[in-house]
Amino acid sequence: MSGHTDRVTAHRVLVVEDDHGVRDVIARGLREEGFAVTTAADGGSALRTVEGGAVDAVVLDVGLPDSDGRDVCQAMRARGVEVPVLFLTAYDGVTNRLSGFSAGGDDYLVKPFHIAELVARLRVALRRTAGDASLRAADLRLDPATHDLALAGRSVALSPTEFRIMGCLMAAGGTVVARRTLLRAGWPEGAIVTPNTLDQYVAKLRRKLRELDGDRSIGTVRGVGYRFG
Ligand code: CA
Repeated sequence: MSGHTDRVTAHRVLVVEDDHGVRDVIARGLREEGFAVTTAADGGSALRTVEGGAVDAVVLDVGLPDSDGRDVCQAMRARGVEVPVLFLTAYDGVTNRLSGFSAGGDDYLVKPFHIAELVARLRVALRRTAGDASLRAADLRLDPATHDLALAGRSVALSPTEFRIMGCLMAAGGTVVARRTLLRAGWPEGAIVTPNTLDQYVAKLRRKLRELDGDRSIGTVRGVGYRFG
């Protein structure tokens, strides 16, 4: 009974999950609740889909075959994709939940979960960000599968920690990011990180940015943190 108006206003959800059984159950459940669903089985195709811009929310499995779902989220945020992201995780560890949030996710669900719970969380996330589904053009690209940072055809390889710090800085859109936020993004909860460690990583990132010959770099905001712009 859904008319033309219903289709136009339906929220478009991208479901990223490599387990096709789980993916089908989620897609069917969301369609029954009136969502327009597209699916992806890995991080690379998920990124290509959100780059198309036709997505209002993403349900993102953390354990993907080509990349970590948290890195996919970082890469999306770094490209200016601000739609709500709901992580699906097989683990019930506190560390995993926290690092999911540092990666720019809005919420998480631990498998197994009821589809009604997923629908409820999605509706909350979509209400919270209503009218805020923008896609900004970004010249720098982070690849969550290879951890490469690319600009205009050139690319440099980042370590996973460098990738997470860079993603956090790029997602901030030119605003200052506190040291504590960068530490949480780059290292697991409870890791021993000396005050100098973050500075050393930022120095490495600055060198790699210079290799790319871009005109943007990471600035130090004394006593607060860093800013990419
Ligand atoms: Ca998986």
